[in-house]
Amino acid sequence: MTVPHPGLPQSGRPAEELLAELRALTAGDLPTRGGRTTAYTYDAGRPEVREAAERAYLAMLEVNGLDPTAFPSVVALERQVVGAVAARLGGDDGTPGIFTSGGTESILLAVKAARDARPDVAEPEIVVPATAHAAFFKAGRYLKVAVVPVPVDPSTFRAVPAAMAAACGPNTVLVVASAPSYAHGVVDPVAEIAAGAAARGLPCHVDACVGGWLLPWLAEAGAPVPPFDLSVPGVTSLSCDLHKFGYAPKGASVLLFRDRPMRLAAYFACAQWPGYPVVNSTVQSSKGAGPLAAAWATLQALGADGYRELGRAALSATRRLIAGVDGIDGLRVLGSPDATLVALGADDPALDLWELADESRARGFFLQPQLSVSGLPASLHLTLTGVSEQGVDGLLAVLRDAVAAVRARGPVAPPTELLALLGEFDLAELDDPAFAALLPATGFAPSRSAPVNRLLDALPPHLRDRLATRFLSVLYSPYLD
Ligand SMILES: *Cc1c(COP(=O)(O)O)cnc(C)c1O
Repeated sequence: MTVPHPGLPQSGRPAEELLAELRALTAGDLPTRGGRTTAYTYDAGRPEVREAAERAYLAMLEVNGLDPTAFPSVVALERQVVGAVAARLGGDDGTPGIFTSGGTESILLAVKAARDARPDVAEPEIVVPATAHAAFFKAGRYLKVAVVPVPVDPSTFRAVPAAMAAACGPNTVLVVASAPSYAHGVVDPVAEIAAGAAARGLPCHVDACVGGWLLPWLAEAGAPVPPFDLSVPGVTSLSCDLHKFGYAPKGASVLLFRDRPMRLAAYFACAQWPGYPVVNSTVQSSKGAGPLAAAWATLQALGADGYRELGRAALSATRRLIAGVDGIDGLRVLGSPDATLVALGADDPALDLWELADESRARGFFLQPQLSVSGLPASLHLTLTGVSEQGVDGLLAVLRDAVAAVRARGPVAPPTELLALLGEFDLAELDDPAFAALLPATGFAPSRSAPVNRLLDALPPHLRDRLATRFLSVLYSPYLD
């Protein structure tokens, strides 16, 4: 007998049963609370704040942000959220902004605005530090804007203002700085980069996606934080994710502009079709108001005191981690982080970072692998948040243990045979079933990512991207089961 509607029950199922199924499915995920997943998740560790966000999200569940005249609640909330972020980041009540679904969307819109503000440039380019987030490359490919990565200082991992300025030319429409960079957690010399851009009549975007709602509280806790926000002359736009250190549920970021014409250039309107006239501030058209309501509720529920305390705790956790890593032979912190993001590198060829990631995960801590690129070494990433403080001794114990285990096994041979095998196949000619059949040969397993990371790290960037997209395609296919 064939199932008439695969994946769809004939008659409706009760909510309790569905939630039980979701609980069973998410049991296999990395934990989103408690700070042991040191990337992707940001836990404020406060049940009452989470509850406020959850209830606010549900209260706005059915509101559509597509039409702000039909749902004025969206305008009211967005103005409050954008206003709060602007006031903390060098703007004021009148600072124009857009609430978006995340850092990538904020960056896409910042690049679109810079491109569309310069219709005179036929082949637009953006100048970014080599450490800039992948979202700028995504914006480049989606928007047909060339991305010019400029090498950073190899010891501090910070952008070099003179090199950034020298990379600007007649096609440049935007210059970028990070505050801080995701990979190494260091703040670029924003003031110098913005001044160099302004001297050439160019706008400058500060990617404060991860740092925007963290650095101000770290500064209050006594950390030396260089100027990075809209108060810096020459900074014309800034992105700040609330679903990171704002501790809001996912789907929340703010893009600020220094002036209104630039925000207009980010907007989209279309009244040349027979349906309703479309006017959007974001990439999405119909969109849930839940993330906006939840971000607003999180800001209100934590308040300045809440963020200050979480910032202090994250800073203390980071300082203890850095001091602890100093005492672990073979392991080191790359650069000197300005925020609470840390990249761990290897000092000893016998310490294979990809094995270290797997060993740490087996001991309960997820560290995020970061590949070597542009002459910068590979590393493991940790983002420390407000809840990391209680777990930092446990994390250090796991690192000591895992480092000892990996070093004892000695250096891992490079994946020479796999590389040769890949050289023989044209990836484009392998279909998903054939690709899936090859995967076990790489040593890949759900609990073992080291072989795949090692392989990716050994490949040139364009092949990495192709292999990674093939991997994603297979992951969503029935062929891996
Ligand atoms: C997270 C991040 C982004 C992208 O944000 P998403 O919310 O993942 O889309 C961009 N830049 C930096 C520095 C980030 O940390």
